[in-house]
Parts: sequence; C-alpha cells; structure tokens
Amino acid sequence: MTSASSPLRLLLLSTPVAPLGTGLGGGVELTLYNLATELANRGHLVRIVAPEGSQLPDASEVPIVAIAGKLQTSAQNQHYTDPVVMPPASVLGYMWDYARQVQHDYDLLVNFAYDWLPLYLTPFFQRPIAHLISMGALTAAMDAAIQQVAAAFPGTLAAHSHAQAQTFACADQFRVLGNGLDLSRYGFCAEPDHRLGWVGRLAPEKGLEDAIAVSAQTGIPLSVWGAMPDPDYWQQLQQRYPTAPIDYRGFLATEQLQQELGRCRALLMTPKWVEAFGNVAVEALACGVPVIAYRRGGPAEIVVDGETGWLVEPDQVTGLIQAVRQIEQIDRAACRRRAEAYYSMPKMGDRTEQWFREMLRETPHGTIAQTSG
Ligand code: UDP
Repeated sequence: MTSASSPLRLLLLSTPVAPLGTGLGGGVELTLYNLATELANRGHLVRIVAPEGSQLPDASEVPIVAIAGKLQTSAQNQHYTDPVVMPPASVLGYMWDYARQVQHDYDLLVNFAYDWLPLYLTPFFQRPIAHLISMGALTAAMDAAIQQVAAAFPGTLAAHSHAQAQTFACADQFRVLGNGLDLSRYGFCAEPDHRLGWVGRLAPEKGLEDAIAVSAQTGIPLSVWGAMPDPDYWQQLQQRYPTAPIDYRGFLATEQLQQELGRCRALLMTPKWVEAFGNVAVEALACGVPVIAYRRGGPAEIVVDGETGWLVEPDQVTGLIQAVRQIEQIDRAACRRRAEAYYSMPKMGDRTEQWFREMLRETPHGTIAQTSG
C-alpha cells in the first residue's frame, strides 16, 4: 500500500535506440539518469532497465538491469505514415517482457521510450505505467497510441514543454514537467573565450548547418559537441563550409562537457524541429553561458529573451548573427541564477514525484497498486 509519503518502488524503462552512455539516445539519457538519481536520493527504490552495454556515470548507485537484443530505429528517421517497425529479437520487446514479469515488485513503471509498443501494452499490464514522452509528434502510429492512452489512462502522460505537448491532438492531457539538472555538476564560468558553442546529436533535425553558417559569416570559432549517428551528415557540412572555423570536440561526459561549454560566449540552438525541451540550453545556463535559440519548441520556453540569451526568428541565420553581436548585453550570472531557480534537480524531483503520486491515487491501475502492492 502506498501512502502520500511512503517510498515508491519504481522501474524506469530506458529508450531502446541505444545503450545509456553512448549519447545516441539524446537528452533522454541525461534526463533518465538525473531522475533516477534524484528519486533514489529521496528514498525511493529505483531500478533502470536499459539495453545491454548501458553505463551510468561512475558516481551512480542506481542498478541497471541490462537487456540484450536488437536496437530500435529512432523515430526521427521515420516518415509520418510509416508503419511500426520492430526487428526480430527486439530489445524493446525484451525490455517490456522483463517489465511484465517483475511488475508486481514495483508500484509504477516509467516509460522513457518514444515507441508504440509500451503505449500499446499499457492496458495489458496490472501495474500502472507513466509515459514520459521525449519528443513531439512524429508518426501517425505514435500519435494514435498516445491518444488511446490519454483516453483510457488520464494523467499518465507527461511532456517536457508546452510546445512539445501542443504537437499532439490531446495536448491538454499532458502534464508538463520541464526538466532539471544536478547543478552541482556544472561550474559557473565568468570569463569566456572568443568562441561559440553548439551541443547535440549531429543530426539534420538539430540544424547544425545554421550554427556553422554563423561561424562562417562572422569568423567566430564554433566548438561542436555531441554524438554522431551519421558521419556522412558531418562530412557534407564540412564540404559546404570548408573555411568555417569549426572544431568537433566529440561526445564528452558531463564533467568535461561543462568545463568546455562554460568557456563559450554563447550556445547556439538551431533546431529545425519542435525541440521537446533542449537539455543543453539548461546545461549552458548552468555554466553561465547565454543561449541564442530559434523561437520555437522547448528552448523558446527556457530562454528569457534579453535576460538569459536571445530568441530569434526560426531559420534566420541573420537573426542569429545579430544576436551574437548583442551577446555582451546578457549577464552571465543571471543565466546561472535562472537555472538554479527553475531547473534544479529538487524542482524536477518535486514535479515528478507529485505526478507519480497523483497517478497512483487516480488511475485504474493505481487503485490496484494501492490495494494489493
Ligand atoms: N551531451 C553529452 N555530451 C556531449 C554532447 C551532448 O552528454 O558531448 C548530451 C547533453 O548533455 C544532452 C544530450 O546530449 O543531455 C542532448 O540532448 P538534447 O535534449 O539537447 O537533445 P536531443 O538529442 O534529445 O534531441
């Protein structure tokens, strides 16, 4: 039986597109790690289920149940009307098969996958499933599955930003959780170098080409950090801007990333899609780095225009350049303060815990959890 303050037993199911620690899972990796850590620190029993080969930062004490199997293709690589595709020996299938077997050891399962299967399976489980949806609408199959869960299990869907939730027909069914970071892992840097930064998966939807165009046109060096799912894309960008002073620094662990990122004069965020949140915006702010972002998706809800960076007309490189010229107007200390006020781990932990407890009180499955758990 779970009461308003008793510890919860939580099984967190990771993305099936990549092992944790590779960066190929995108922001979900950091979000899952942070939430698991915060919830465990609050006394909850937390286990992570993730593809084989997953690693958490050394300091982590949250156990991982590693599941072998074939990885899932990212939804970003699909067309809207594509059917659901699952490989034979699917890690996603095996992860949820494991969850089915152990569900009675937990009060709540938490789904971090942007995949049809866990949504579809929800009514077949005896334990409630919380779905933290990590991207905006991308495929008809996901939209329909989300709609069905929204109708049958109200209160079980969460998104990271209002803009992300609004990409779905059932936008009002989403709880908007934002995101939070362990700010003690990010150091404030008052004196940056003369360079700009860009952080993210090197993939077309992230729009790296616009940041490179800024660097090419202004001559200001651009450092790039992130996992590289498709080396051809990076090659094409280098050929398109052969003289741009860009420097690919690889995919770094948070400790190194924040040290280097902190030395940037500004972070450029140039996504071509509705970015669900944009962890990297908050990571930059935590280091005192102002964020210049297109006015769309999560970054537009994070950046306070003129206070913690600049919001720019989407897809306008000239707007980015103008913002870069005005970057000295932004107080780096105000950026750090903003991260502390809105995006700390305790704040994220409070919002998430409240969501879980309300779910356990209100969903049909939650009733089962409370009476038989
Ligand atoms: N990241 C990292 N090391 C790097 C570059 C990126 O750990 O060198 C992480 C970063 O902390 C962030 C994630 O990669 O959590 C990118 O997530 P974001 O939400 O910005 O975008 P997504 O990839 O999910 O679209």
